[in-house]
Amino acid sequence: MLDRAQVLDAGDPLAVYRESFDLPESVIYLDGNSLGCLPKATAGRLEEVVREEWGRDLIRSWNTAGWIDLPARVGGKIAPLIGAKHHEVIVADSVSVNLFKLISAALAMQAKKHGAGRKIVLSEPGNFPTDIYMIQGLESQGLATRRLAAREQIHAALNEDVALLLLTHAHYKTGELFDMVELTRAAHEAGALVLWDLSHSGGALPVDLNACEADFAVGCGYKYLNGGPGAPAYAFVAERHLEAAEQPLSGWMGHAAPFAFSDDYTPAPGIERLLCGTPGILGLSALEVGVDLIAEIGVENLYAKSQKLSEFFRQCLAERGIDLELVSPTDPAQRGSQLSFRHEQAYAICQALIARGVIGDFRDPDILRFGFAPAYLRFADMAEAARHLGEVLESGEWQREEFRTRPIVT
Ligand SMILES: *Cc1c(COP(=O)(O)O)cnc(C)c1O
Repeated sequence: MLDRAQVLDAGDPLAVYRESFDLPESVIYLDGNSLGCLPKATAGRLEEVVREEWGRDLIRSWNTAGWIDLPARVGGKIAPLIGAKHHEVIVADSVSVNLFKLISAALAMQAKKHGAGRKIVLSEPGNFPTDIYMIQGLESQGLATRRLAAREQIHAALNEDVALLLLTHAHYKTGELFDMVELTRAAHEAGALVLWDLSHSGGALPVDLNACEADFAVGCGYKYLNGGPGAPAYAFVAERHLEAAEQPLSGWMGHAAPFAFSDDYTPAPGIERLLCGTPGILGLSALEVGVDLIAEIGVENLYAKSQKLSEFFRQCLAERGIDLELVSPTDPAQRGSQLSFRHEQAYAICQALIARGVIGDFRDPDILRFGFAPAYLRFADMAEAARHLGEVLESGEWQREEFRTRPIVT
């Protein structure tokens, strides 16, 4: 397998980009979908922001280094990766907070149009928890009603009571994709608005928000965009809603004229209205480096390679006779950049792999998840990871006591 992998690596047009990342030699990193890798340029850029822009130029940098425009500037760079116009995307806060803002905005728009009774937010059970929890928070305030419908039931659940459909494009556990075009159309036909969570797709596969006429979207900066731990998130509002979308976190940075220091809140006319407080410049600066790199490589290229990587990984498993239950779709066109397997001992197996330097992750209760971030992974890594997985399973080394205790973050 390793021979074939090396041939594939030699013919891989993206192989050169591995050099753009700072990767420990002894690690095979299959968790870029949870925390992306460190681009080599990030440390230097942060050093410059800290020492020169902050340390030397101090408060002047809000203007001279363009700090004040950074949320919109980085948003504008993310926009082409997700099929949006540059003025439809902004970077701010976390995905969770942006969900709150956009669910609230959508519900307020629907209340204006249909009356306050139309407040169901429809999602799927097993969606990423924060998406569901944020609906619940609004529910406890009396502002939303949560409805969960399994994938195959979503069409049937989309009736005239639904105000907003909130779904995650690529499922965090299985990688299964929703058909954004078809579901957005169905929601619109039912009079609902649509909010897509792109956390597991932005920067990994081509997304075209405007082609499917999406209303709203959010996405994550620290996964495939390699923005660093806790990197700020992004939010999208379709141009046609920019005037009507009003979000309740009416902080001064979302004001039309923050430095007029008026007593009255007037939202900014554009996407800046999604800002709340002062943006974290260090986080934004690191994210910009990650976004620039992904934009340079190109999402189409990345997606094509990730499909080849995951298929090659499956071949390696098959040739080793490793028969794990795949919970991701078998058709690579139906899944994001990951493969997930179900195993009763998923947690301990994952720990045993990590001890060998193969970092994947475990998702409760029984999922072993491998992310294939194509910007820095080699086909040889697939062959090696499959070998380690085979050895862990055959030797039963996962049964060791040390692989069974769970820390807080899994
Ligand atoms: C990672 C992820 C998030 C992260 O939310 P934060 O508030 O930024 O921590 C949200 N939604 C999905 C689907 C995710 O995968």
